[in-house]
Amino acid sequence: MKRIALTAQRQDEHMVAERREGAKMHATEINKIVEQVIRQLKQKAHPFRTIPIGVSARHVHLSPDHVEKLFGKGYRLTRRKALSQPGQYAAEETVMVAGGKSVLEKVRILGPPRGRTQVEVSLTDAVKLGSNPPLRESGDLKGAAPVTLIGPKGSVHVEEGMIIAKRHIHMTPKDALEFGVQNGEYVGVETGGDRYVTFDRVLIRVSDQYRLEMHIDTDEANAAMLKTGETVRLVKKSGVEPWPIGS
Ligand SMILES: [Zn+2]
Repeated sequence: MKRIALTAQRQDEHMVAERREGAKMHATEINKIVEQVIRQLKQKAHPFRTIPIGVSARHVHLSPDHVEKLFGKGYRLTRRKALSQPGQYAAEETVMVAGGKSVLEKVRILGPPRGRTQVEVSLTDAVKLGSNPPLRESGDLKGAAPVTLIGPKGSVHVEEGMIIAKRHIHMTPKDALEFGVQNGEYVGVETGGDRYVTFDRVLIRVSDQYRLEMHIDTDEANAAMLKTGETVRLVKKSGVEPWPIGS
C-alpha cells in the first residue's frame, strides 16, 4: 500500500514538473510572438527600409541648343553609361567649366539634354573656381551663379547656370506611401558607419519615373565617409526650418 502511494506521489511530482516545463515553454513562445508583433508594429510606424546612396560628382546638364554650340551643329551626345534614375545617362562627352578664378577640366555631361543648361558642383569645386553658387533644388536656377562652358567647337556663357544641389531622395509614390512621406517634404537621414552622420532637411522628391536613391554631393559623401551603393536610414520627419548661421 505504502509502495503504491509512493509511486503515485512520484507520478504526481513528475506530472507537476512536466506541466511546469510545458508552461515555461509556452511562456517563451508567447514572448517570442509578442516581440515579433511589436517589431512589426514599430516597422510600420518607422519603416526599417534602407535607402541606397548615389554620390553625384560635379556634372553638367545641357540644353539641346548648347550641345550644338559646344560640339557643333546637329551633334548628338553619346551614351556612355546608364545612371540609376530611369532614362538618365552619363555621356562620353565632357566640357571645361570656367568660373571667376580658374577652370575645372573634363566635367562629365549627363543626358538626355534638358530645357536649360545647369552645372552642379560641390562647394569645394566652387571655391576652386572662385564662384559663389547658391544651394538649390535641381531646376531652380533663379539667382544661380554665372558660368562659362568650353567645348571642342565653341563656348557658352550662362548668366544663371551653376548651383550646389540640395541633397534629396528620389522615390516612387509607392515608396512615399511606405515611408509615410510626401513630395517636397524634408526628412532626416542617418548614415551609420564609423562617422554616423545625421543629415537633416533632406528633400523628398516623388515621381513614378524615379528609383529609390538618396543623392548627395562629393563634399557630403566625404564628410560622412559614404560611397555610392551604401545605404542610409530615414529616421524622422524634419520640422525644422533653416535659420541663418550665427543667429
Ligand atoms: Zn537626384
